[in-house]
Amino acid sequence: MQVDDGTMEQILNYIDGRLVAPVSGNWMENIEPATGLCYSEVPDSDLADVDAAVTAAERAFAAWSRASIDERSRVLLRIADLIHENLDELARAESIDSGKPLSVAKQVDIPRASANFQFYSSAIQHFCSESHAMGEQALNYTLRVPLGVVGCISPWNLPLYLFTWKIAPALAVGNTVVGKPSELTPMTAFMLAKICMQAGLPAGVLNIVHGLGSKAGQSLVEHSDVQAISFTGGTQTGARIAKTVAPSFKKISLELGGKNPNIIFADCDYENAMATTVRSSFFNQGEVCLSGSRIFVEKSIFEKFKLDLVARTKSLTVADPLIEQCDLGALVSEAHLEKVLSYIELARQEGGKILTGGIRARLNDRCEGGCFVEPTVIEGLSHDCRTNQEEIFGPVVTLMPFESEVEVLAYVNSTAYGLSASVWSENLTRCHRLANQIQSGIIWINCWMVRDLRTPFGGMKQSGVGREGGFEALKFFTETKNVCIHLGDS
Ligand code: NDP
Repeated sequence: MQVDDGTMEQILNYIDGRLVAPVSGNWMENIEPATGLCYSEVPDSDLADVDAAVTAAERAFAAWSRASIDERSRVLLRIADLIHENLDELARAESIDSGKPLSVAKQVDIPRASANFQFYSSAIQHFCSESHAMGEQALNYTLRVPLGVVGCISPWNLPLYLFTWKIAPALAVGNTVVGKPSELTPMTAFMLAKICMQAGLPAGVLNIVHGLGSKAGQSLVEHSDVQAISFTGGTQTGARIAKTVAPSFKKISLELGGKNPNIIFADCDYENAMATTVRSSFFNQGEVCLSGSRIFVEKSIFEKFKLDLVARTKSLTVADPLIEQCDLGALVSEAHLEKVLSYIELARQEGGKILTGGIRARLNDRCEGGCFVEPTVIEGLSHDCRTNQEEIFGPVVTLMPFESEVEVLAYVNSTAYGLSASVWSENLTRCHRLANQIQSGIIWINCWMVRDLRTPFGGMKQSGVGREGGFEALKFFTETKNVCIHLGDS
């Protein structure tokens, strides 16, 4: 985006209540994935910027942590309202920055970012702790105190949605925050900074440092004055962060990748299962950690399901994310597009048959150089091949038949991941049985992506450590103390 004087718009860091350029004066290009063109510049921040942000956050901590719950709650609610008031502008920015359809940003990303602040402005009013009475001998009560300065690091697929999902609970319980959004999608975090200023959030309470994960992110993770890291992103990055922080015993919460199964039994509500499977496969170009990328279908309905799924997939429109008719927009970057295409090639080499898609989509006019991939359905692969074991994070799903519950359970649990699963059957006894045995943090029965913000959210195995959501997040962002008062000898 050119500003009036002909120069490129510069996204700024938000430190100590002010919008500032990176100390080094270094910037990186911010590319619009739908066009492949640079449209703004993002700070290439380093330790100096992180240091300034942590110092500001430390300074702000005393007053913010002692502010009344009402006061913190009011500011968070004001931020929620301002996000809502600026929905159209934020949604457009999110779509341009990430390549996602404008309709998705309008209906999902931005409303949810507002809801995150609204939810935690209310949740903090109801957060309470336990007491354990020991008869007349003693009384224990639990205190949950804020940690201090915490780091929140988020990915590019649901930029403002996931960034605020961390920031809101961290601030609600009285921490101060240094956030690092993905450098691929920094624009709405920049806009959030302006909203926080407008909402009257005190200087230094939230600081946002833009830049590379390997530089700005790593500096934040390593910083000795940061007490906790809440991270959402890839499993490899999560492992690196866990290794970095282990010697310092910082608290960490890791929300990582997934390779989620949809398990479709012959006795399901077929139309609902089909429509939802299309959505869980291709919503947000499949760039959702919760996407159902392995579709297991009971053998007796496999052929019919396959034909219908392929027909519905073919009817989806890959288009300029800013137009209304767009079902799938652009992938986030050329590098990510290459990764997705390389997995499609791997699937071919592993013996998979591409039923539809499988290629880069070429658009015209302003989207000529954009990062588009046709939605892709593959069959004929074994459950244990690399295509079915590794996260692709794009519009690519595989179809596999199964004959029994025991068989499909083994397939489902065969990956290193354990984030979510969807089970489709009208036999609820079977659904409950499977829910108990599937190794995933989130199980949906006859639905997908139905979210209640009070519920625990997170994955098992290599999909993460800890849970976000509801009081779980408030517990993560506090230190628990037990106070024991002696009352008398028993
Ligand atoms: P990455 O792991 O590459 O990056 C996530 C964030 O971490 C970015 O801000 C990144 O910065 C930063 N980062 C990278 N390296 C470091 C480091 N050494 N220290 C600190 N921060 C670092 O993930 P993606 O952005 O590619 O996101 C996609 C991944 O996120 C997928 O695997 C997906 O499954 C997962 N995800 C998980 C969710 C969940 O709730 N479980 C939800 C959504 C996504 P930069 O962008 O500059 O590299």
